[in-house]
Amino acid sequence: MLRLAIQKSGRLSDDSLNLIRECGISFVNSSLKLKTESTNFPLEILFLRDDDIPGYVADGVADIGIVGENVLVEEGKQELVVERLGFSKCRLSLAVPKGTDYTSLQDLQGKSIATSYPNLLQAYLQEQGVEAHIHTISGSVEIAPSIGLADAICDIVSSGSTLISNGLREVERIFKSEAVLISNSNLSEEKKEILAKLMFRVHAVQRAQKAKYILLNAPNDRIDEISRLLPGAKSPSILPLAEEGWSSLHSVVNEDDFWEIIEKLKGAGAQGILVVPIEKMII
Ligand code: ATP
Ligand code: MG
Repeated sequence: MLRLAIQKSGRLSDDSLNLIRECGISFVNSSLKLKTESTNFPLEILFLRDDDIPGYVADGVADIGIVGENVLVEEGKQELVVERLGFSKCRLSLAVPKGTDYTSLQDLQGKSIATSYPNLLQAYLQEQGVEAHIHTISGSVEIAPSIGLADAICDIVSSGSTLISNGLREVERIFKSEAVLISNSNLSEEKKEILAKLMFRVHAVQRAQKAKYILLNAPNDRIDEISRLLPGAKSPSILPLAEEGWSSLHSVVNEDDFWEIIEKLKGAGAQGILVVPIEKMII
């Protein structure tokens, strides 16, 4: 059985659990339990504080885990990454009180900065040749300037609204983060096999998230032109419509460029275009 550590409650929890469920792995989840076993896959799930996950995986208490890169890199354990997961995207940024003059990082020379990420911050300042006093605090970093604890802060930002509501202005983005799957480096052969099975499913889910299934009707004399616009997995499926001279084309398009393709398809005479989500995609 493979042991997976995920965050018990917080910004990684829902998406981590969703990923496991989308992989077809069922389990009973009660908010009181710190450990659960899947009923249909050799997986045990541990619910932990996110900060503890890299250490537990490195020590082999858990075999694999899901954690933010910000926490992983702060703890110096980036070598454990197996796969980037694309959710919980955020950044680590420097922010100063709204009214403060700030033109470049040099303005923070000799100043004090409050953060929960002293290692990432120190590495960045050093690389940029700036020396500042780092105040390490474990939470509520945004209030540090207003209570006189620090001149600036370095904290996780996603939309920026928390900064704004605390009278702060984002001035430098120092690290980009997303959720990553990490693994202990000494897994047994049995555990490696289970992990490979899990990764096969994760990839199918990830591929499906980026892809859309597209169906459209086209006059037969436009099929070639439209097929060229639909790269698909191989080439589009073409089915005759009941109406003489028309066909239905089915294919797969990438979410990132489907709007552009749809314009071109319409230009080439496609009608009744349907775009539908894909649940799993195996190639
Ligand atoms: P814990 O109690 O487990 O220690 P925490 O308070 O340290 O939780 P959360 O705020 O739940 O952590 O954030 C967990 C991770 O989610 C962060 O380390 C970061 O990778 C990511 N994250 C944080 N804030 C955001 C956000 N606003 N949007 C998206 N992802 C975020
Ligand atoms: Mg934490």
